[in-house]
Amino acid sequence: MRYISTRGTGPALSFDDVLLAGLARDGGLYVPEEWPFLTAQDLRELAGLPYPRLAARLIRPFVGGTIDDDTLQRIADETYGDDPDRGFLHQAVAPLVQLDHRLWLMELFHGPTIAFKDYALQLLGRLFDHVLAQRGEKITIVGATSGDTGSAAIEACRDRDNLDIFILYPEGRVSDVQRRQMTTVASENVHTIAVKGSFDDCQALVKAMFNDSSFRDAAGLSAVNSINWARIMAQTVYYFAAGLALGAPDRRVAFSVPTGNFGNVYAAYAAIQMGLPVEKLIIGSNTNDILDRFFRSGAMETSAVVPTLSPSMDIQVSSNFERLLFDLHDRDGAKVRDDMESFRSTGRFNLGRSQMERAERLFTSHKLDDDGIIATIRGIHERTGQVIDPHTAVGVNAAMQADIPDPTPIVALACAHPAKFPDAVERATGFRPSLPPRLADLFDREERSAVLPADLAVLQSHIKQHGRVFA
Ligand SMILES: *Cc1c(COP(=O)(O)O)cnc(C)c1O
Repeated sequence: MRYISTRGTGPALSFDDVLLAGLARDGGLYVPEEWPFLTAQDLRELAGLPYPRLAARLIRPFVGGTIDDDTLQRIADETYGDDPDRGFLHQAVAPLVQLDHRLWLMELFHGPTIAFKDYALQLLGRLFDHVLAQRGEKITIVGATSGDTGSAAIEACRDRDNLDIFILYPEGRVSDVQRRQMTTVASENVHTIAVKGSFDDCQALVKAMFNDSSFRDAAGLSAVNSINWARIMAQTVYYFAAGLALGAPDRRVAFSVPTGNFGNVYAAYAAIQMGLPVEKLIIGSNTNDILDRFFRSGAMETSAVVPTLSPSMDIQVSSNFERLLFDLHDRDGAKVRDDMESFRSTGRFNLGRSQMERAERLFTSHKLDDDGIIATIRGIHERTGQVIDPHTAVGVNAAMQADIPDPTPIVALACAHPAKFPDAVERATGFRPSLPPRLADLFDREERSAVLPADLAVLQSHIKQHGRVFA
């Protein structure tokens, strides 16, 4: 299996190179040269497998011989096992909970940071470790987070010998729980930086560091944020798990995905390319509705970021959308380059009628403001007894609004544990959900973080001063 850049001019790479590279040299994102495909018969054989076995089976074609089958299975077993410190503390790993005759929640918060990013990042940390040890290399991981990516990346990377991790987050724009999950990790290779700016500023700084090739090479820069191909790959697994549990290949399901950077819903798109029968992908947007406006108008157009009750979706640039765009342009990297250049210089690009028709066949979208989030959390609690977090509420509401033929099952992704956003949940229900036991002492732990301006030079010198690669 080889990987190609969405902008057409980066070199084709093997899995281990793509894992470490993150972004392509031409500024594009890596995608597999072709999709591995599972037939209906293949899917029947996968139904009912334990999650770690399903994961290894689905991931095997993507690693394309760079990791042998036994090692891959061992890594999947370690990642999705029930280690009390770092594992997934539910035997089903990604269990389904039924809300009504056809609406289901897929709980993706049983990992160490109680949000869905653990499902990909716990695997990624182990894959990095394995590949770096094999090569005898050391790297510096940098990432921008609007909340959950940071803590999940830190948990995945802490205490690993061959890498340091620097995580940038917008000062004051992540929840107390999210911040503490990042700043209280007392590992020597973990560095958190509060940036005076927005999440998009953080993301722009990370991109700028990657585009500075002398710094990139000196630091051995690598990314674990949602542009990293291996995260997409790992996220396809729970879509298959849910689809198989609800009747694939003989019954289609729809998925409703609260969306920010477009990584999670793009993984669902990847699962479809791999043969999972899916009726529709429903995109849930909060007030930062660039994607919702795009699916209604065909114009991708940025506007200012507005803070909401679902901070992990407070984004106006959905990086992973570029991967879908590549396919909508029939994998013509030059067309993607033109759109991205126009987006960079004017804040806007348009898609043609035929591309939009193709996108609309697979995707639909709905948005929800903060009042709607509160009303949805309250309504679901009153009607079903389930407590959901504000991000999950965006997806659940989109699922309820979407025009999906009855009785097609709709799986709404529960992307974070409600205790990660206790203020919003309390406003909606009148009580504060409690943290699961493994995080019960979070507010007693000591915090440690740098505070820096949104300035590339200041950031680079901070990394030079603290990174072990520079020692
Ligand atoms: C990251 C995150 C999202 C958005 O996912 P994307 O892959 O960026 O679209 C939604 N909800 C929660 C809780 C998240 O952590």
